Amino acid sequence: MNKYQKALDNLVEKALCWIEDRALTTHMAKRQAEAITKREALLQDLVDKATPKKAIVEKGWYYKNFRCPCCMNLVAEKMYVYSENELTIQNYCSACGQALKWSDEE
Ligand SMILES: [Zn+2]
Repeated sequence: MNKYQKALDNLVEKALCWIEDRALTTHMAKRQAEAITKREALLQDLVDKATPKKAIVEKGWYYKNFRCPCCMNLVAEKMYVYSENELTIQNYCSACGQALKWSDEE
């Protein structure tokens, strides 16, 4: 779990505790909890974008394409014909901003 996910989870937990501690009416507490859940979903999208994901690999007989796992944008390509062709690594997808992971390390 990365630092952004931890911060979001912690914030949501504290917000829900705050509602409980305020002894709000059931109706008000439910509305407040729904508002928190809605904002949590928005922020979860940002956390997911910042959490590196492995590119999807498409292998051809003379090439290897690497695509963003979210929007399928081409993020790198390797041609086998040119042995000196090095993979240009991008840390983020230029189309959607998804963080990309290039190793198996967690
Ligand atoms: Zn993308």
